[in-house]
Amino acid sequence: MNKHVKYIFVTGGVSSSLGKGIISSSLAKLLQGRGFSVTIQKLDPYINIDPGTLNPYEHGECYVTEDGAETDLDLGHYERFSNTPTSQANNVTTGRIYQNVIEKERRGEYLGTTVQVVPHITDEIKRCIKILGETGKYDFVITEIGGTVGDIESFPFIETVRQMKWELENDCAVIHLTLVPYLKAAGELKTKPTQHSVKTMLEQGVQPDIIVCRTEHPLNDGIKRKIAQFCNVSHNNVIESIDAETIYDVPLLMKDEQLDIAVLRKTQTPVPEQLDLKNWENFIRRLKNPKQEITIGLVGKYVELKDAYKSIHESFVHGGSANETKVHVKSIHSERITKENVNEKLAGLDGILVAPGFGGRGIEGKIEAVRYVRENKIPFLGICLGMQCAAIEFTRNVLKLEEAHSTEIDPNTPYPVIDLMEDQKSVKDMGGSMRLGSYDCELKKDSLAYGLYGTNMIKERHRHRYEFNNEYRIRFEENGMSITGINPQKDLVEIIELKDHPWFIGVQFHPEYKSTVKQPHPLFVGFVKAAGEYHQRQK
Ligand code: GLN
Repeated sequence: MNKHVKYIFVTGGVSSSLGKGIISSSLAKLLQGRGFSVTIQKLDPYINIDPGTLNPYEHGECYVTEDGAETDLDLGHYERFSNTPTSQANNVTTGRIYQNVIEKERRGEYLGTTVQVVPHITDEIKRCIKILGETGKYDFVITEIGGTVGDIESFPFIETVRQMKWELENDCAVIHLTLVPYLKAAGELKTKPTQHSVKTMLEQGVQPDIIVCRTEHPLNDGIKRKIAQFCNVSHNNVIESIDAETIYDVPLLMKDEQLDIAVLRKTQTPVPEQLDLKNWENFIRRLKNPKQEITIGLVGKYVELKDAYKSIHESFVHGGSANETKVHVKSIHSERITKENVNEKLAGLDGILVAPGFGGRGIEGKIEAVRYVRENKIPFLGICLGMQCAAIEFTRNVLKLEEAHSTEIDPNTPYPVIDLMEDQKSVKDMGGSMRLGSYDCELKKDSLAYGLYGTNMIKERHRHRYEFNNEYRIRFEENGMSITGINPQKDLVEIIELKDHPWFIGVQFHPEYKSTVKQPHPLFVGFVKAAGEYHQRQK
């Protein structure tokens, strides 16, 4: 067991969306580069037990971990940067904290005392933070506190940081991320919002150790000194975080600003001489020097909302870098695709991805998009609902069962090619009750999938209720759609591939949750490659 786990807190002030997740992930990357093991956790101040029941308009994509937790999308960044799987313990909400405390109270564990925010809620928050340190696996636990200091909801979390900082002394550091706005009229960067934000922290008893300043312009020394002086931190601990071309530049920018060294010094950890970021730098070099450019159509219903498909976008960045290809992702609104306009809407694309989703809105457009790529032999990747659409399209247009559908959308369809599994039929609670997390999948040799993964046993993450209906398996195989991936425990269809097509694959799982900088996902690497080849053929 590692006795001296260091706890790093990342809080935010002035504005939301400053990129606490990216700063936390970048710090993790740098500490890993120096040989430390790190995990990152997100504490979310909202009352939902988890983001699983939130629609993407609220908080963007719901990310899923190996052990089936439905989490905030920041956990995706943590995994993509650190290449370390997260778990249930890495995302905790106020709702979860209160649920735990109330359950304990009902069990009589508080022995008749009055249950209060301090100490019971804060003790529970502390327990959820320390659980990660107590695994003995990590030298550093980085805890990102969602929201902005001063929010009513954040109070118990900041109070917990105050207590832990007091208890842990040098085994703890607090990083506060703020915004230093540039006022055009004055031609100046302004430090006042940062000063006020730190004051708000101080009112709650927490003195940040390191201040990371998000800015559109470089901070000159004078500005850094001013922030240091007014916010009681040393000059070295005022870190500039300037706008970057890509989020993947941030670890390198933080390396130049020595954020890792500031953290190591504060936690009295000797600074290892070597910082190995070769892998990362290679990734960036390939990303920034593409040999060709392609355009992939992303057909979904949340096109105006980039965060709704966050992991898919990032997987294309990884797959693009692996192929030295710049991938432009064009979002196409599935609700606007019709039989009449599909040729025009999908013209000029080198590949089409049909996105995951829930409910019937836009589904006919997705099915039409699948027909178009099947008939025109354009590379296709269907993910979850996207795979289900491919199955529906095949049943309708190749097996000629025109009323085929998923029972999620048409419960009375005579041809339920996608249907609820028996064990889902009795489910009443919507939260956390889907088929979630990592499941085995056995691949058929000589399939496209087998060629890409290079192995016959894989594990992928799921998040869905409906499944391919096994009654259609034989008809699919006989008519040109191969079933190439099966979950061996439950005999569920996980992958379908069109035989007479250069690259057509539908997967019931979510490959995008497993793609990282270090290990770009084979399906995305293969898809980008196939789209590149298609692009060449069109010239
Ligand atoms: N709505 C579908 C289901 O529940 C697909 C879900 C998804 O795409 N993640 O099975």
